[in-house]
Amino acid sequence: AGDAYPAAGEPLLRVEGVVKTFGTFRAVDGVSLEIKAGEFFALLGPSGCGKTTLLRMLAGFEAPDEGRILLGGKDIAQALPHERPINMMFQNYALFPHLSVRDNIAFGLKRANMARSDIATRVAEMVALVKLEGLEKRKPDQLSGGQRQRVALARALARRPQLLLLDEPLAALDKKLRENTQGELMELQRRLGMTFIIVTHDQEEAMTMASRIGVMKSGKLAQVGAPRDLYEAPRSRWIAEFVGDINLFDAESKLRDGHRLVVGTRDAGALVVAEPREPVGEGKFSVAIRPEKVKLSRRGPVSETGHATAINRLDGVIADICYLGGTTTYKVKLDTGGMLQASVANSARLDVDAYSLNQQIVAWFTPDDCVVLPS
Ligand code: ATP
Repeated sequence: AGDAYPAAGEPLLRVEGVVKTFGTFRAVDGVSLEIKAGEFFALLGPSGCGKTTLLRMLAGFEAPDEGRILLGGKDIAQALPHERPINMMFQNYALFPHLSVRDNIAFGLKRANMARSDIATRVAEMVALVKLEGLEKRKPDQLSGGQRQRVALARALARRPQLLLLDEPLAALDKKLRENTQGELMELQRRLGMTFIIVTHDQEEAMTMASRIGVMKSGKLAQVGAPRDLYEAPRSRWIAEFVGDINLFDAESKLRDGHRLVVGTRDAGALVVAEPREPVGEGKFSVAIRPEKVKLSRRGPVSETGHATAINRLDGVIADICYLGGTTTYKVKLDTGGMLQASVANSARLDVDAYSLNQQIVAWFTPDDCVVLPS
């Protein structure tokens, strides 16, 4: 602590080929990553993929078996947790039950031998920051879940770390409070100009809060990118399925047609897709379409229903309807045998957009809305 902060946008943290094994199990299996100062970065992945282990190595609670961790260019592998300008907020908050809100927040400052009067000032500042005024004397068991979360956050921020690590900070909160707190955390991060790395297994949460996301799978970083990159240009079938809903059709044949591919699928017949940026090799692949890219209309002549072409036009029957307020998700049983999910925005004119169960419809989408993914 006390070191000059790198300016926003400058590299802050560099993780190089980090490995952590427990026995013979590689919990973190060669992760390399660069985080810039001022970033809000999310580590996203299913349970057990190594997110917490990676975070614990950054904080200094675990030592990597291989690789380097550099902060502002300095190797911090040997530094103890409290010697690093990094703080971690734990999943269960790990508040001291016998200490008041004030003393919980002051704990790290006392340990760093800050002067008493400075501690009082800093604690008051933190209490105001997370809006806990009036609750300073309470013990953790006299607080709500949301208030406890704020104490933990204030305690983690009190020493003004260069980097704050947050392990599932909102997991214990109910949906509404979680959404409000997401907004508050983002606002706080922007206002303080700090660098946050948040761990979550909730893809919506990661996409809402983070400017970049690293998706972890089995100890490895499967893809790193802005939320939009992960959603629009997933690198693998696994990423496409993990980040949002997607329709996938296994390819059985392919044929080049100028800038397009005609892909034969068993479940959806021939689909025309835009030539992928990275050429499809000889291996297996799938055609992927997000549900909101699928358009539906009543069956009838092209001129009446508005679908302009015969390309990627699939006949089917509405098999399931899920009304979600802003959108409705339809499951369509295709005449070719497969299922197709379509997510349709609900306009004010329900009579125009709504389809009923067992209704015969036409589904279609453009070649550009299809992504080709290796299986
Ligand atoms: P979750 O979202 O469930 O918290 P995670 O992605 O954070 O999961 P980690 O806690 O990093 O996952 O654990 C990664 C893997 O390493 C898991 O399979 C876990 O069982 C294992 N693991 C973690 N800590 C230890 C340990 N101290 N000893 C042995 N195995 C461990």
